[in-house]
Amino acid sequence: MAVFTVVSDSPQTVDLDRCVHCGLCLQACPTYRQLGVEMDSPRGRIYQMVQVSEGAPINDEYREHIDLCLACRACETACPSGVEYGRLIEAARAEIESKTKRNWSGRVVRGFIFNRLLSSPALLTIAGSGLWLYQASGLQRAVRATHVLSLLGLADLEGLTPRAEPPFFFGQIGKTFPAQGERRYRVALLAGCISSVSFARLNEATVRVLRRNGCEVVIPAGQTCCGALHVHSGLPESARPLARRNIDAILDGGFDAIISNAAGCGSTLKEYGHLLEHDHLYVHKAKRFVALMKDATEFLAGIELNPDMHPLKMRVTYQDSCHLAHGQKIKKAPRQLLAQIPGVEFREMPMADVCCGSAGIYNVLQTEMAMQILDSKMANIQLVQPDVIATANPGCMLQLEAGVRRTGGKQKVMHVLELLDEAYAASS
Ligand code: SF4
Ligand code: SF4
Repeated sequence: MAVFTVVSDSPQTVDLDRCVHCGLCLQACPTYRQLGVEMDSPRGRIYQMVQVSEGAPINDEYREHIDLCLACRACETACPSGVEYGRLIEAARAEIESKTKRNWSGRVVRGFIFNRLLSSPALLTIAGSGLWLYQASGLQRAVRATHVLSLLGLADLEGLTPRAEPPFFFGQIGKTFPAQGERRYRVALLAGCISSVSFARLNEATVRVLRRNGCEVVIPAGQTCCGALHVHSGLPESARPLARRNIDAILDGGFDAIISNAAGCGSTLKEYGHLLEHDHLYVHKAKRFVALMKDATEFLAGIELNPDMHPLKMRVTYQDSCHLAHGQKIKKAPRQLLAQIPGVEFREMPMADVCCGSAGIYNVLQTEMAMQILDSKMANIQLVQPDVIATANPGCMLQLEAGVRRTGGKQKVMHVLELLDEAYAASS
């Protein structure tokens, strides 16, 4: 049983006080750049959090400004005063959730998604199978062709539907895959909840690339959803049991690294120490877990990469995933890996580290703003005319694929690990 001190999940004065209101973060903020509204800037949002901490009511206006934040943390990178904005926005959302009440249907839907669906392979398999039927039967194509979705204003939202990729990756959980050649490392791979349904092929590619690089890859039994979507939605209390389950399932497996190929998940997994800081039983375990956590690109860039790759003749640009660039402060590793693939012509796009508008489930909840931000992103991508848009997070891949469809482009959207996998496959 967990033993912990209950603390309030709300922005702490010590964190708020770090902001000196200099405004140096404003131009890094996608919502401020789109709207030019101070209250939709990092500085404006922090100002509003301070007001609430001093007793101002949590009203609809406050909630809207907080909801419209992508939690992309670009402001955190830009801030010279070390404001940990990611921590603040998550705490502000948790405070809103705990002190205000959603309507009945909102509570039921959120309760089902966050407390049942995401942590249940059985329910995710049922949902994924239904999605697969919708897509494989041609119904999705037919619905799109009717333009009914456009008339209902749902075309953008439907365009973000992930692909179901049976066989789902849940079937691999509990298995161990031997290293190819000499075993250099023993690593654990986090399969992910939605990723196991919609990015099963990416997970398989990740296993192959790791094995090619001397890793024995274990997909630990007992692992579950990392809790990232819960934390980002202001539900840290729902994320904590998931964090404890993952720690129990993985920590003592004798691993050299625990690996995630989803930057959004990895960012939260690396913050388990913070999430469980008041849990006396788990705080030290969480810190040991975090010390082993690596993004897949970070891990591979940190070892001697197997150079036995076939050239890929393609122009590639890279879209930073916010939770890798700003959350985990990793920008070099994915670019370094792309540079190591023979034949790849790398083209850096302008403002690659500005959010694409995906931001977890932000594009589903704030579709209009997400599409405005995506259009700006696609304009920057067009400038470098890539064949492939590479990124390091499944959520960004979905958003960028929607961007390619919106612009009628032909670019492929690929995870960096998929490009490596293709280069290795061609060499065998
Ligand atoms: S997290 Fe992103 S959207 Fe939110 S205030 Fe910071 S830069 Fe702006
Ligand atoms: S968050 Fe940082 S950069 Fe932005 S206004 Fe505050 S101190 Fe300045």
